[in-house]
Amino acid sequence: MTHFLLQPFENFVKISSFTGKLIKKCCSGDRVIDLLFHFPSSVQNRSGNINDFSEKDKLTVTLKIVDHMAPRSPKYPYKIIGQTPNGDFVTIVYFNYNAVLIRKTLPFEGVFTVSGTAKKTADGIQITHPDVIAAPNMQKYYIGIEPIYPLVSKLTNRTMIYVIKSLLQVMPDINDLIPEKLLKEYELMTFSNAIRTVHNPKIPADVLISSKARERIAIDELLINQIRLRQIRASISQQNTQSFTSKNTIIQSLQLPFQLTEDQLSCLDDIKRDLSSEIPMNRLIQGDVGSGKTIIAFISMLVVLENGAQAAMLVPTEILALQHFTNIKKMLPKIKIDIMLASNRSSRAKQIDLLKSGETQILIGTHAILEDNIEFKNLGLAVIDEQHRFGVMQRLALIKKSHCQNILAMSATPIPRTLLLGCYGDLDVSSIKTKPQGRKPIETVVIGVSKIEDLIERLKKVDSQVYWVCPVIEESENLTDINTRCDYLSKQFSTKDVAILHGKMKPKEKDEIMSRFKNGEFRILVSTTVIEVGVDIPSANVIVIEHAERFGLAQLHQLRGRVGRGSDQSYCILLYHNPVSTVGKQRLQLMKSTTDGFLISEEDLKLRGAGDILGKEQSGFQSLRFSDFASNDQLIQIADKISSSIELDSDNITFLYKLFSRIHEDVVA
Ligand code: ADP
Ligand code: MG
Repeated sequence: MTHFLLQPFENFVKISSFTGKLIKKCCSGDRVIDLLFHFPSSVQNRSGNINDFSEKDKLTVTLKIVDHMAPRSPKYPYKIIGQTPNGDFVTIVYFNYNAVLIRKTLPFEGVFTVSGTAKKTADGIQITHPDVIAAPNMQKYYIGIEPIYPLVSKLTNRTMIYVIKSLLQVMPDINDLIPEKLLKEYELMTFSNAIRTVHNPKIPADVLISSKARERIAIDELLINQIRLRQIRASISQQNTQSFTSKNTIIQSLQLPFQLTEDQLSCLDDIKRDLSSEIPMNRLIQGDVGSGKTIIAFISMLVVLENGAQAAMLVPTEILALQHFTNIKKMLPKIKIDIMLASNRSSRAKQIDLLKSGETQILIGTHAILEDNIEFKNLGLAVIDEQHRFGVMQRLALIKKSHCQNILAMSATPIPRTLLLGCYGDLDVSSIKTKPQGRKPIETVVIGVSKIEDLIERLKKVDSQVYWVCPVIEESENLTDINTRCDYLSKQFSTKDVAILHGKMKPKEKDEIMSRFKNGEFRILVSTTVIEVGVDIPSANVIVIEHAERFGLAQLHQLRGRVGRGSDQSYCILLYHNPVSTVGKQRLQLMKSTTDGFLISEEDLKLRGAGDILGKEQSGFQSLRFSDFASNDQLIQIADKISSSIELDSDNITFLYKLFSRIHEDVVA
């Protein structure tokens, strides 16, 4: 039988189908658990004591209506005088009223329970626009502390309280998946208790994410996440992989225009060691923007090719796919390399054949390479560039592809150990700590858009190539769009100096614009954030980020990393538009004061959550519903420990997984 928590809530509460629909919408689901996981966002106190209530609370009284005082002009409020059983008078006040309705709702001599925001005035106690008018014997139901729920239009808090209370009343005792011993050890509530407590807050602190009850639920969510990761790891490490040893046949023919840095070489050593072993590689290369990760990926792919296997590289944008394709093609004219873009479906059939037969040795592409019908003959290595842009699911899809088990992930965003644990279960890490020699630190300036003319004058005096980033393609929310900015810049410079780039363009157009920019055929590339990751054009040494106040730190750092890739002095101009929020100012200030990616990402975690940032996935990590990978260090560790010390059978695992998955959304991987 379906578990109580997974059944439709309508099996247990009687409500109209209209209300049912509102609740489903509000809680994004129709199961009991969807409602029980709809947590209050604050608390409200209703006092029953007319002589002792605080003005932030609401007052509940039983009143007999003794007088109606309709004003002469509708400009003034309508007042109704009521008397308590003790003989005290309370005035009910309505502004913008419908007098007929008031007289019907609160008729003379009627007795009611009235509750609402109350105030002590010179004329006695007043309740303005009461939110409860109920039968006289109902007073006891409207006294005390009650939860306030996030709602949707037309759904009242009262209904939410009623439905959730009704469910809690019939909720059976739930068998806890975490044994008592561990609950004690980590000072955790039982699951049932946590659910009941969440919906019965006593003080405002009870609704905070840090409350004991919320913590327990977060633990369960993290627990199922850890269990799944463990399962995945186990299934991978059971299989042996081919062992690939570097033969230097192809690699020798590579002619690099530079010498690899020590850190790059040591990363390559780690990778070669992993590839030569039969245990699957699961390694992350961590190195700040511009530190030279791409070449490491390329060489690693060649080791696999030398052994007759194929390699794939997953990248987040088409522009990056095109760039890697062009670069690797230039380095290795004899190797068969194909590129697969999400938007380029026409040539797909032929590509599929060539991959299956093994003729295509390297495949580079966006998530298009994850599609089910893409099969390799023998995929030896999968590289994930800018891994923070991909979810665990996509990583898994790549692992499953042709039983490929060697994974090399690359990221500029430093990831704290516990975050890695939370997102991936486990991962070996190699770091590039120093950048190639001869790079000058990027100079960052913060200026308001009112100074744009000065900026233009300065740009006219130099002949740098410039990225000019705007947040949107078309004007919206008062944000400057690329078209408006392009028109403006074309007037300031000349039409042939400026071009536009955005994600919705056809791959061919993007490719053409990028290569023309790379060849120095025009000066200013006005673009959206499609250039945010990976783009490498060393000759461009100025980036203007418009509406910088609206970007998150991680994103600003990535964008800034587009320059400073050559030996010339580079500049990053953070062009802000007022008003700038306090956190926005802090972000701009930090960007100006440091180029240290580690420091920036640490601060990013602290400043996160500010609502003024554009786009959803600033850090790239998909947060869970009840916990945040980034800030719940301790909980992740506890969940990981619990996951390794309990044995859940597959039914229980499935149950836990279902609890935390919502209808159209898989919460855990
Ligand atoms: P990221 O780590 O951000 O992916 P890239 O791999 O794009 O960085 O490298 C940035 C730039 O540095 C590229 O133009 C690349 O050719 C260059 N580069 C990489 N390694 C070295 C090196 N050892 N010496 C000099 N330049 C290098
Ligand atoms: Mg890169």
